[in-house]
Amino acid sequence: MNWDLLKELSDAVGLPGAEQDVREILRREISNLSDDIKIDAMGNLIAHIPGDGPKLMLDAHIDEVGFIVSHIDDDGFIRVIPMGGIDPRVFYAQRIKIFGRETLTGVVGALPPHITRSDPSQRDKVIPIEDCFIDPGMPAEKVKSLVRVGDLASFDRECIETEDSLIGKAFDDRVGVFIMIEGTKMAKEIGCDLYIVGAVQEEGGLRGAGPAAFEVKPQIGLSLEGTVANDVPGAPEHKKFAQQGKGPEIRLSDAGFYAHRDWSFFIADVAEKYEIPHQIIVKKIGATNAAVIQTTGIGTKTTALSIPVRYIHSPQGIVRKSDVEAGVKLVAAVIEEAKNFSEL
Ligand SMILES: [Zn+2]
Repeated sequence: MNWDLLKELSDAVGLPGAEQDVREILRREISNLSDDIKIDAMGNLIAHIPGDGPKLMLDAHIDEVGFIVSHIDDDGFIRVIPMGGIDPRVFYAQRIKIFGRETLTGVVGALPPHITRSDPSQRDKVIPIEDCFIDPGMPAEKVKSLVRVGDLASFDRECIETEDSLIGKAFDDRVGVFIMIEGTKMAKEIGCDLYIVGAVQEEGGLRGAGPAAFEVKPQIGLSLEGTVANDVPGAPEHKKFAQQGKGPEIRLSDAGFYAHRDWSFFIADVAEKYEIPHQIIVKKIGATNAAVIQTTGIGTKTTALSIPVRYIHSPQGIVRKSDVEAGVKLVAAVIEEAKNFSEL
């Protein structure tokens, strides 16, 4: 596997509405596969690889959770609001990159413990992200000359590779982008009329994928995602959902949709045929672009295929290499086999 590409994708910054760096990596990687690559008004990348068979839209979102500057005070401390769902407990003491006139690095600060300890109402309180402050460690005038309200910011973390895993900041959804790219490259034949979509602004409420699906008008849709792996100490057995080391998740339900059942089980059958580990998951939390692809235009038979990520939406997610490899193989197999999906 080309782990350097996954590292590059995780380290690239693509905040909602400013996904250009990730989009360019996607464009570069698929430019040999498609000579019809468009960018629409919202910034979605839509690439067409013609073939015989049903019109299949693969989707992976190219944005990630991050922050937008909301206020700069007279002492040069910067306030941000989160873009997407970020647990405030993971924010304190992080290094944050702020993309102002220059790129600055700041640290998330808070009142020192000897002050909060004396005030019981403050002691164990988790401070909302918008009430924390980022300290760029420079004079206030300099901060004000470099940073404006509306500038974007992200976790400052470099992806690392271990023997079994990668640890990085943006596997939601760069691991989806990765399996879309590498799965398409791996496919021995294109058994469908294939569209590859890098969708913008998923973290702001599944905003880009609908217009992209409206343009493509697919018959079948497959969202490729990084999803929550809850297989950690203390999680009840029936709420672990996708577990690491068991392959990609084929999702039948979440808070946003009920998947097309025949299409979902077709993908599970393909996984069986190719002996690719996979897990079928039913839950009522979370949502993916599959929810909007399903209901755009006259509707699309849609499901979602996701790689389990521990500590998702934090500066340090973990993905298991074996799950990512299985995801790449399954995407390749689905592209080859889609022509045999008869429920159209
Ligand atoms: Zn996602």
